[in-house]
Amino acid sequence: MSKPVNNPKTREWQAMSREHHLAPFSDYRQLAEVGPRIITKAEGVYLWDSEGNKILDGMAGLWCVAVGYGREELVQAAAAQMRELPFYNTFFMTAHPPVLELAKAIAELAPAGMNHVFFTGSGSEGNDTMLRMVRHYWALKGKPSKKVIISRVNGYHGSTVAGASLGGMKFMHEQGDLPIPGIEHIPQPYWFGEGGDMSPDEFGVWAAEQLEQKILEVGEENVAAFIAEPIQGAGGVIIPPDSYWPKIREILAKYEILFVADEVICGFGRTGEWFGSDYYGNTPDMMTIAKGLTSGYVPMGGLIVRDEIVEVLNQGGDFNHGFTYSGHPVGAAVALENLRILRDEKIVERVREETAPYLQKRLRELADHPLVGEVRGVGMLGAIELVKDKASRGRFPGELGVGMICRGHCFDNGLIMRAVGDTMIISPPLVIGKAEIDELVEKARLCLDLTAKAVLS
Ligand SMILES: *Cc1c(COP(=O)(O)O)cnc(C)c1O
Repeated sequence: MSKPVNNPKTREWQAMSREHHLAPFSDYRQLAEVGPRIITKAEGVYLWDSEGNKILDGMAGLWCVAVGYGREELVQAAAAQMRELPFYNTFFMTAHPPVLELAKAIAELAPAGMNHVFFTGSGSEGNDTMLRMVRHYWALKGKPSKKVIISRVNGYHGSTVAGASLGGMKFMHEQGDLPIPGIEHIPQPYWFGEGGDMSPDEFGVWAAEQLEQKILEVGEENVAAFIAEPIQGAGGVIIPPDSYWPKIREILAKYEILFVADEVICGFGRTGEWFGSDYYGNTPDMMTIAKGLTSGYVPMGGLIVRDEIVEVLNQGGDFNHGFTYSGHPVGAAVALENLRILRDEKIVERVREETAPYLQKRLRELADHPLVGEVRGVGMLGAIELVKDKASRGRFPGELGVGMICRGHCFDNGLIMRAVGDTMIISPPLVIGKAEIDELVEKARLCLDLTAKAVLS
């Protein structure tokens, strides 16, 4: 499937990979055999590999490069901060201007009543922080038995021990004896894959009711929180049926448990609103953030916390938790500039009013393709379900790896589209323009044709 290698440097780098690099989420045997694709530079919504191929990045890096590649202002913000104060910690009652200014800027964008941020180096660390903070909160409230966190099968909450445990990815749990105790999973609202004969709305209500079932099973007195992504990203861009979030809100209102929105993908404009929770009208108690916060230019994450929780924490003395890089000044300076760009250039508004509706309309044109069982999406998120039988939503045999075949064709034709099983997903930079959207959809159709030729004959 891959093209021949012409640049001798590519071979050198691939050898270095084999000899020295342990890669995340990669098939080690295959990686040693074929070597990684080497990405060398990027501009706007495009990447270049070491063979000189230009590739339209339909995944914004890993859901993160919101403002696109090559933004000189972010480079300048990092350089200026490195000159002024490259590092200082925020432990033991110290702080520095960028972390404070960023916390204020985030509070201004966050839903009403969410005015404080705990900073981390990543989304996973944000969710680890959440786990410890909610248990600490309930202990301070005199309810130390409230420890269990309910999350969802096939949710993604990161790759640390707590993150992977909160996540509901079986293949991650299988390695390293996860999940850790105190985490319970309920079914996901994935109608296309699991809705059976129910209508999407019936299934959405059913999936939401599983939360109530679980609360009753575990006992409200033992449940600390429910965590969910507004839209599951890594699980396959799963857009819940319209009935799902209203029913979840109804259930959450009945029980005294915290609601955590993992906004690592949905946050900072991806849905066309500042947060996925705004898009759905949800009012979480905490929101995990990362990715779009800095457009991925430097690592940074955090946890936005509702005022009532902060009031309780403020009565509690030490919170024995933190990371060397919590609130890193360079990360904070880049995040501040990234938020300024998103605001001043009205990028979120443009996504909402103009480019996301266009992307969604063009993507749905692919629904007529013989391989395509469903096209869905919200904002700058999209999914294309590959099926053997459109009417029954019938899948190809898993061994065939239809999604991976399609992904390979995409790479070879200058498009990055990710495969989750047989679901093709996209999450392009928020700055993608209409002509680039046309290119994305045309390339996607070509790759669907090539995939169909390979598997339908
Ligand atoms: C990527 C992601 C995380 C983990 O973030 P890292 O920065 O990779 O640790 C957590 N939650 C969601 C929803 C994500 O997409």
